[in-house]
Amino acid sequence: MDYLPVFLRLDGHPVVVVGGGTVALRKAAWLRRAGARVTVVAPGVHAELAQQAARGELRQIAEEFTPEHLAGAVAVVAATADRATNARVAASARERGVPVNVVDDAELSTFIFPAIVDRSPLVVAVSSAGHAPVLARRVREQIEALLPERLGALARFMGARRSSVQRALGAFARRGFWERVASGPVATQLLRGDAAQAERALGRELLAAQLPVGAVARLGEVYLIGAGPGDPDLLTLRALQLLQRADVILYDRLVSEAVLERARRDAERIFVGKESGGEDPQQRIHELLLRLAREGKRVARLKGGDPLVFGRGGEEIEVLAMHGIPCTVVPGITAALGAAAAAELPLTHRGLASSVTLIAGRLSDGALPDWRFLANPQHTVVVYMGVAQLPDIVARLEAAGAAAGHPAAIIERATLPGQRILRGTLSNIVALAQAYRIEPPSILILGDVAAFAATEAGAAPLPRAGAPGVPA
Ligand code: SAH
Repeated sequence: MDYLPVFLRLDGHPVVVVGGGTVALRKAAWLRRAGARVTVVAPGVHAELAQQAARGELRQIAEEFTPEHLAGAVAVVAATADRATNARVAASARERGVPVNVVDDAELSTFIFPAIVDRSPLVVAVSSAGHAPVLARRVREQIEALLPERLGALARFMGARRSSVQRALGAFARRGFWERVASGPVATQLLRGDAAQAERALGRELLAAQLPVGAVARLGEVYLIGAGPGDPDLLTLRALQLLQRADVILYDRLVSEAVLERARRDAERIFVGKESGGEDPQQRIHELLLRLAREGKRVARLKGGDPLVFGRGGEEIEVLAMHGIPCTVVPGITAALGAAAAAELPLTHRGLASSVTLIAGRLSDGALPDWRFLANPQHTVVVYMGVAQLPDIVARLEAAGAAAGHPAAIIERATLPGQRILRGTLSNIVALAQAYRIEPPSILILGDVAAFAATEAGAAPLPRAGAPGVPA
């Protein structure tokens, strides 16, 4: 190890920054974040530093650096563009035994600034000991994505209850207790911003920890997670965080293997999708969710797209609520949005459409849509689960007054390998879908927006009109 990572308490202590440019500005900002009393030594400074000095947030000494400037400082940062000045600062600092950081010069430094992930009071510092700052920053970005935004709030929540828990529980019970707080319903609720629920969950954990083992059932929880249209990079950060935490994953047919790959390696995976021609699995899913949560498991219920758009997520929320099982819903990118992005086709567009309706193609379920309203080409209609019913949908729209030239697009396997985009009109979309053997999962987009981009029916999009070599 080239450097020992330590966390320095600077609160109220004087620190000197030599230099007045953007680098000095950045360093001064970090130092101030830690509560240091910053003095900037530079004849001229960045406008923002000048403003901060004017507001009294730091002190500026408008002089060339001399060793006297270090009097009383607990640390110094040399951030000038001039190597000789930086070297002089380093030498005087060493002479006085003051820790010094020279920007971009590990050789002259006695301490270095790490790349920082700040979820105060929880802080992660990453360093490559000056060998590859780019690499350290990349690692930081990856950690950044994995750590929930409200992790600091969770740390404070736990910190504020340390002493009362210490009184209530013995040392042995405490360890397991805090483990469950950090990785169970208390954390989930707090990280989604619900402090009241977190408090209730904490009460339950405390009770379970005080009573004999098994006296109070250890409650698990369910994460109802939208997996997006298929490309795993379209998962939300929270989906990823909870997938890393889940003990069990219940997933549907629409959840891609690539998405499952992002889950915790040792999590149990249970396929709960409908087998083709099989019976409705929903009842079995409800029973499974309840059983697993009652065993104390953290259950990720992964659904394609968004769980609350044609995903029957509402039914699962109801069942869990009825049985008092904590549930967290994480939105996903619904197929309509994934498909629109994949086809670069706006769902609303000035002059083309200012409203969108999502409908289920399976016209047997529930109330029928108002076809007259949907037949207006300036209103975008996105049809889920509509491949098999395509002729029926087209016939109903035409009966309601839609023109033969009403634009239509089909996006098959949006965002997944083998994605295909078909464009046509009501007059030919059925024939096209047959000719190209369109299969589920596919989504149908109707209305003027469906003709938005200049692409050929089929997989390969043509260059846009106006692109080089293409007539405008
Ligand atoms: N909850 C899901 C929808 C489930 S209904 C969501 O929000 O996206 C299943 C229908 O979604 C499929 O029949 C299809 O119409 C659509 N669908 C889901 N994934 C798709 C994809 N990758 N490409 C095209 N359509 C998709």
